[in-house]
Amino acid sequence: MEFQNHINEKLPIQEFNHPLALEHDIDLKVLRLDATHPEISGNKWFKLKYNLHEAKQLGFHKLLTYGGAFSNHIYAVASASKLFGFETIGVIRGEPHDDLNPTLRHATNCGMRLHYMDRETYRRKTEPEVLENLKSLFGEFYIIPEGGTNQLALKGAREITSHFTESFDYYCLPVGTGGTIAGIILGLKNQGQVIGFSALKGDFLKGEVQQLLKNGGLENTLNWNLNTDYHFGGYAKTKVELLDFIREMETKYDLPLEPIYTGKMVYGVLDLIKQSYFLKGSKILMIHTGGLQGRAGFNL
Ligand SMILES: *Cc1c(COP(=O)(O)O)cnc(C)c1O
Repeated sequence: MEFQNHINEKLPIQEFNHPLALEHDIDLKVLRLDATHPEISGNKWFKLKYNLHEAKQLGFHKLLTYGGAFSNHIYAVASASKLFGFETIGVIRGEPHDDLNPTLRHATNCGMRLHYMDRETYRRKTEPEVLENLKSLFGEFYIIPEGGTNQLALKGAREITSHFTESFDYYCLPVGTGGTIAGIILGLKNQGQVIGFSALKGDFLKGEVQQLLKNGGLENTLNWNLNTDYHFGGYAKTKVELLDFIREMETKYDLPLEPIYTGKMVYGVLDLIKQSYFLKGSKILMIHTGGLQGRAGFNL
């Protein structure tokens, strides 16, 4: 597929010699999905690729997607569309602000048209009535769901596992909508244990992942679990302790992280190591899902 030419296919796996890992005899490494492309970073590329392909195949020139004002998905769709020649409409939850934040500024610079939707209408964003209204405004478009998770996204996310150049006992990654973890579980075919670190508060995610796995043909699989202990208050919530941790990881270990997803996951993995959650001698791969552009809003 011609999209591939712009994307780095050789993603590095970096050693992470943290003292806690050494002390507990854990082999800890990080797969840098953030190296796919500077703007279409990480898991978002894998989730988008087959959707872009499908849109092109079906003859669409215009993509429409949804997200909050700080959405990495909005950022990635806008970047990809510019690179691959699609027009885009970003339906943004909430009211417009006078100043665009860095995510929305980038999106508009890429040519994305922003359409703000009040929260009540946004909840009904996929209902026929709301869609008809969007069509009357923008014409025909290919829809990519909020967060980018659909069956084609899972197909792409499965391919993340082809970058696992050795096998590990544990695969750890942050979770938002669950599309990425579901794709990885499907791609691993029962090898190893997958641990998702929820960036959101609430227990609804487990059911969502189960449903995605079922749609992907996998039921009652046991080699995964969700950890909900490290959301730091919920989506896009953070604490000074987490920001300090992120600064330390970058300066001491050359591992850049951001506070919405990857910072929480790495914090969680190290904390579990500290609690001797993993058997001595275990091999752990942390999956850096990208999103580093999100640091712009956090003084990092
Ligand atoms: C969107 C995103 C996630 C969450 O991915 P899901 O497939 O929605 O679970 C994780 N990490 C980063 C950096 C993201 O941008």
